[in-house]
Amino acid sequence: MKGPEDVLLIVDVQNDFMPGGALAVPRGDEIVPLVNRLAAGFEHVVLTQDWHPRDHISFAANHDGRQPFETIELPYGEQVLWPVHCVQGQPGAALHPRLEAGHARLVIRKGYRRTIDSYSAFVEADRHSPTGLAGYLRELEVKRVWCCGLATDYCVAWSALDARAAGFDVVLIEDACRAIDLNGSLERALQQLQDAGVVRMNAEQALA
Ligand SMILES: [Zn+2]
Repeated sequence: MKGPEDVLLIVDVQNDFMPGGALAVPRGDEIVPLVNRLAAGFEHVVLTQDWHPRDHISFAANHDGRQPFETIELPYGEQVLWPVHCVQGQPGAALHPRLEAGHARLVIRKGYRRTIDSYSAFVEADRHSPTGLAGYLRELEVKRVWCCGLATDYCVAWSALDARAAGFDVVLIEDACRAIDLNGSLERALQQLQDAGVVRMNAEQALA
């Protein structure tokens, strides 16, 4: 059992990211049993939940003539436009019904501001609005952040990179993640993670 210096960060294990959901990550549902095994091995678990208002700026439907997966320029930089997903309080935004992490202490809801997206659990997409997670973890003297969930190349990678930037040791539990892989995004993300010093493991190694 991992103790108080370690936290398992379970990113966006939500209905809309599952096959059949509004923004399905291929084979996203396959990770749930493994995430459950990991959660059972950590005393301290934090969840994230993508949590958008219906008029959110990241939805293609809110931009005339735009299609999902196109990119636009926003004041804070490039933004991928997504199908409408994880609308606050809707069934698609709910955690996967078979996720077993009842002992999770904190749920970080992200992307709740209309004008800013947030892939990362730590810093919103404008790259300076904090979610408060780094301060929470520091106050509890957490040293290592173990990341799993969806999707490897967006919300998991950005969270892992920001955890490193905030000074934590970071492990990506690769087989407990699945990627969207849009235009080479997975390869780019893995390279960035390596450059930042994020360690890659499988769940077996993480639980050893
Ligand atoms: Zn989103």
